[in-house]
Amino acid sequence: MAAAPKFEGWLGKDAESVKGKMEWGPYEPKKWTEDDVDIEISHCGVCGSDLHTLRSGWSPTPYPCVVGHEIVGKAVRVGKNVSHIKVGDRVGVGAQARSCLQPDCAECSAHKESYCAREMIATYGSVYPNGEGKSYGGYADYNRTNGHFVVAIPEALASEDAAPMLCGGITVYSPLKMNGCGPGKTVGVVGVGGLGHFAVLFAKALGADRVVGISRKADKRADALQLGCDEYIATDEDQGWDKKHQRSLDLVVCTVSSAKMPLTGYLGLLRTHGTFIQVGAPDSGEMPPINAFTLIGSGVKVGGSAIGSASSEIPEMLQLAADKKIKPWIQPVDMKDANKTVVDMEDGKARYRYVLVNSNYGKH
Ligand code: NAP
Ligand code: ZN
Repeated sequence: MAAAPKFEGWLGKDAESVKGKMEWGPYEPKKWTEDDVDIEISHCGVCGSDLHTLRSGWSPTPYPCVVGHEIVGKAVRVGKNVSHIKVGDRVGVGAQARSCLQPDCAECSAHKESYCAREMIATYGSVYPNGEGKSYGGYADYNRTNGHFVVAIPEALASEDAAPMLCGGITVYSPLKMNGCGPGKTVGVVGVGGLGHFAVLFAKALGADRVVGISRKADKRADALQLGCDEYIATDEDQGWDKKHQRSLDLVVCTVSSAKMPLTGYLGLLRTHGTFIQVGAPDSGEMPPINAFTLIGSGVKVGGSAIGSASSEIPEMLQLAADKKIKPWIQPVDMKDANKTVVDMEDGKARYRYVLVNSNYGKH
């Protein structure tokens, strides 16, 4: 059995860390079990969730915390109970590191691990039960995750492209698929950011008739059209957008990360019996109020979605991306520059996903 690697990474020590104040240093990973895989990290995408967690936006973060849940690297130590991965494989980890995985769990036994109500261990910032330690993410040299949540990366995908699909991609692929995105459907994507740009790419790959990008400013219009949008709405700048486009979409996936959103206007874009799915997760979880008649008047449904299944949907999505040669718009940056990258992400500069590249293990 291989020895345990030395775990070092970018530690957020308090809420100030989101301002570019993470510190590189050693930490103690969760206790090793034969269900786990240790991964030497080569790439890690920078997700909006990393920022919420660094600043304790959702709830108090158990600092020190290493964020990052779009991890790709090489399996360097594989527990005896893990059969689908072997040492040396190129593998990935998304936003979930463990669930109860019991046969009597309705969610885990149906490939809905991200909805497990008994045990939801996130890839970072979670405390394992029974004194097993905490989960630490991918702005680091190594990651330790339960093998059930470690996926093989198809050869056709570059690591830097696959990494952000593991959270940003799956979080929109899952609700698109689940809610019938395909031929004959018109789909709106609110927030053309990291998740949103994946939603445009996957909605097109799934065969939607029309895809409409919806963001605040007009300066993303050219990008959105180049990404594959048939139309683009800039809600801060296109006068009367809500009236002009009302009742034109079957499905809307909303990635907006703030409570400041014109939700009534978005819901008005739905056709009768259309579906609105919220995936963006504002600090404190708050959303604008919804008037009952907005729902009743057009019979629309409002729902949400949490990442996707590592045992079924992530492999399916990666295969679709490989088959359709989906090319995300990513910006590789050296993992040494993680602090600057977090600040740039916070400032809305990503076009459309930063991916940290760890080319220099342990020598930062
Ligand atoms: P991102 O790249 O920053 O994209 C978010 C987009 O929302 C921005 O590009 C921005 O587009 C738009 N937006 C609209 N109103 C906004 C406002 N008032 N403030 C800030 N942005 C606003 O972030 P991301 O990585 O795609 O993540 C998006 C959200 O999804 C985050 O809250 C993240 O935590 C959440 N998330 C949820 C899950 C899940 O399982 N449900 C999984 C992963 C991430 P414009 O500036 O063009 O308007
Ligand atoms: Zn994420």
